[in-house]
Amino acid sequence: MDKNICAYLCSGCGIGDALDMEALSEVVSGEMSTECKTHECLCGAEGKALLQADVAGGVNTVVIGACSPRVMTEEFNFGDDKITVRANLREQVVWAEVKPGEGEEPPAEAAEFLQETASDYMRMACTRAAKTEIAEPWEVETLDRTIMVMGGGLAGLTAAKEAAAAGYDVLVVEKETDLGGKAKGWRQSFPSKAPWTDLEENPVEALVAEISANAKITVKTGTEVARIAGAPGAFKVSFKAAGSTSEWDAPAKVTVDQQDAIDKGEAEDPNAGLQNYMAEDSAAVTVGAVVLATGWKPADVSQYEHLGHGTVKNVVTNAEFEKLAKEGKVPANVAFIQSPGGAEHDKDFPYCNSVTSMVALKQAQYVCQDNEEGKAYILYQHMRTPGHMELFYKSAQENDGIFMTKGNVTQVKQSGSMVKVAVEETLLGEALDLEVDMVVLAAGMEPTTLHENSINLAYRQGPAFNDLELFDGYADSHFICFPYETRRTGVYACGGVRKAVTMDETIDDATGAALKAIQCLESTDRGVSVHPRSGDTTYPEFFMQRCTQCKRCTEECPFGALDDDEKGTPLPNPTRCRRCGTCMGACPERIIGFKDYNIDLIGSMIKAVEVPEDDDDRLRIIVFVCENDAYPALDMAGMKRHGINHMVRFIPVRCLGSVNMAWIRDALSAGMDGAMLLGCTYGDDYQCHFVKGSEIANKRMENIGDTLSTLGLESERCATNQVAITDYDKIPQIINDFVEEIVEMGPNPFKGF
Ligand code: SF4
Ligand code: SF4
Repeated sequence: MDKNICAYLCSGCGIGDALDMEALSEVVSGEMSTECKTHECLCGAEGKALLQADVAGGVNTVVIGACSPRVMTEEFNFGDDKITVRANLREQVVWAEVKPGEGEEPPAEAAEFLQETASDYMRMACTRAAKTEIAEPWEVETLDRTIMVMGGGLAGLTAAKEAAAAGYDVLVVEKETDLGGKAKGWRQSFPSKAPWTDLEENPVEALVAEISANAKITVKTGTEVARIAGAPGAFKVSFKAAGSTSEWDAPAKVTVDQQDAIDKGEAEDPNAGLQNYMAEDSAAVTVGAVVLATGWKPADVSQYEHLGHGTVKNVVTNAEFEKLAKEGKVPANVAFIQSPGGAEHDKDFPYCNSVTSMVALKQAQYVCQDNEEGKAYILYQHMRTPGHMELFYKSAQENDGIFMTKGNVTQVKQSGSMVKVAVEETLLGEALDLEVDMVVLAAGMEPTTLHENSINLAYRQGPAFNDLELFDGYADSHFICFPYETRRTGVYACGGVRKAVTMDETIDDATGAALKAIQCLESTDRGVSVHPRSGDTTYPEFFMQRCTQCKRCTEECPFGALDDDEKGTPLPNPTRCRRCGTCMGACPERIIGFKDYNIDLIGSMIKAVEVPEDDDDRLRIIVFVCENDAYPALDMAGMKRHGINHMVRFIPVRCLGSVNMAWIRDALSAGMDGAMLLGCTYGDDYQCHFVKGSEIANKRMENIGDTLSTLGLESERCATNQVAITDYDKIPQIINDFVEEIVEMGPNPFKGF
């Protein structure tokens, strides 16, 4: 596109009071050769009219120096065919000015520091505008709107019902011969309405009947998914009889020969080629998105030998007890053991949670319902009854037949036809010896993804979700921000496979997953990304002529979006891609980029920063800031007027994983004195919006530290830091600490070379 660029400076919100707007305008029009206009309130009616008139008059690339790009998004939206670049002069310059402490004088150069920072941000914004191109959305050749639901339990059936109600065709695949899943065996469900004390009817039977009568829903029972190939909008799925041992034993990646055969077959019949590589017994079908509702499994509790599961008669798990309860076989005296006790007595059973607490309360009620003199003993370390379930807990406390005490269970043993339970350190302060008919152990709820490859993807990175061991077997791509989304785009998890949930929560969960699947289909159709960059029209483009087939991009993509051929050449699947840019950060050849975010564009922005020479008060430190949490946290630090050190310059990045080490080298060779990466937490409490981008970036930075050492530069000039969105009070200090370290080291010795 032929660019007609114009820059606009806003002097409102205190910007004009703190900055010399005329001088700033001269930087833009002089140095950057970009026409520049100043207005006292760009987001007001008059300001918007000015912008709109210019856009109508031919301006197609708008640079706005005003507030944060996170606000006034509608006011400064000129349509998809225009480029808009925002320079954050308000939150991250003017409002971030360091104020002197009480009784202190501001530094004589305070106004100059502010002006220099604002000028650098305008230089960077103009550079970005000049280098940005409009992206055409990725057009898919075919799109199938059928949603496949794996699992015919409460979660799967609810997802199917909701997707069908929204007008989509649904295919439900269930490995058992009947629909209903585990919930089929539950006698009653928890209270879902006031007064939150009464058990309710199990909804699953009615749901099974509803699904069976729904013309938009096709059901395959006794069937498992053998393989899923393809990408959102066009997944090709083959099936096998449940329990069949002749599972298609495909390699982790599709080889060139296989791909050829698939393509050749497909030329004649869209499914035939792939089918050659799939299970023996069933034709492949095409679906657009997948809801994973394969549920959970009770955790094995036999490892706790002192509790006697499998050795002492009448010691059962909570799931086993529920079946007995449904059959009306509830004994009169039952002990419910919620924590294993013994040496680590403060711990709960693995995968125990609020649901297992509430199951004990529910099953204790069965004991009283079915036996006039029934007595239930709940022995716990922690009872969790969130929200209204507190009332359910209280109703159990008021039930004369239910006794609850915190205690450490030390032994469960046979005593004739009875079972003896020894409990220490109880709330009552004395040891208890109970003799009961039955002991129920609160086995936790393990997601099926922990045990089995429940998805069978024909992806380069393997058939299951990656890094499962890091996330306790759960498939979520972000446990806070993006519920239902797994680490494979187009596959959405709900119910027990996603987290421990009650039946009521399962219904909400499944509805959410069905919506996500629909969003994915519709985004795929429009050629845009799903969360977290929903609506993004860009996608990674590869300059293959220079690819060395090093496979870093295919291996590091957190979403398995890239397959490769036998030589290692990446085979992108844009509809699987979440646009994080981790592949771009990984590529040593720097040949991956987006239309509005690439190696050259960010490298040029770095070079646009003015680096003063021989001035210890004006060192320059570039900080690559993750736009998901760290950037909004910085904005909030500005809003709270915390003050940010004047020596730093921020560049927002899609994810720290997208930071290519070439940028760090660019910064240091441009004479900058340090470089920092500011992104999300990783590890056990991971919050990276692209699963592992920040962790990958940290590793790369360790390596670049070694490289710097060999160049005679201190490796401490580069650092990474992890912050959460709520860390706005801490960020200024984190930055200051780093700046102080750099100041102590002194200027970059290569400055000026
Ligand atoms: S942008 Fe992210 S999701 Fe897309 S291919 Fe690259 S690494 Fe994978
Ligand atoms: S990282 Fe770059 S050079 Fe390596 S395989 Fe991917 S595109 Fe090719």
